[in-house]
Amino acid sequence: MICPTCKSDMIVVEHNKIELDYCTNCRGVWFDSGELELLLESAGLEGLEPLLANLAGSTEARSAEKKRKCPICLKKMKKIVAGQEPAIILDICRQGDGLWFDGGELAQLVGQMAGEAGEKTTPQQEIFAFLQEVFKTEG
Ligand SMILES: [Zn+2]
Ligand SMILES: [Zn+2]
Repeated sequence: MICPTCKSDMIVVEHNKIELDYCTNCRGVWFDSGELELLLESAGLEGLEPLLANLAGSTEARSAEKKRKCPICLKKMKKIVAGQEPAIILDICRQGDGLWFDGGELAQLVGQMAGEAGEKTTPQQEIFAFLQEVFKTEG
């Protein structure tokens, strides 16, 4: 699959039966529809799935970021605001193919979501452990 940001070839990363496409050049991550839910489930965060459904239905964000094309259907994706302080702008396929995170955005969003989930710190730690294991990059 081709990276929607920098057009490099992405690699498929598989971990705990969850597959995602990762760009080693710009560190962006593509989740096929369903894979992000699997990730949340595996970390015990399935209560946050409605939040993801809301994201898909939310209105387009005003952003200076360049529009990106879905790596699957090649149509322009919709920009949505997924996080607060700082706002995280994600690209989502209008046909539901999946969701694109720029490098670092996924870890930011997971941190914010896990924070909202309450005092449970374990799921957050699990997801960060997952990310670290998958990407073995910074930190
Ligand atoms: Zn890239
Ligand atoms: Zn698409």
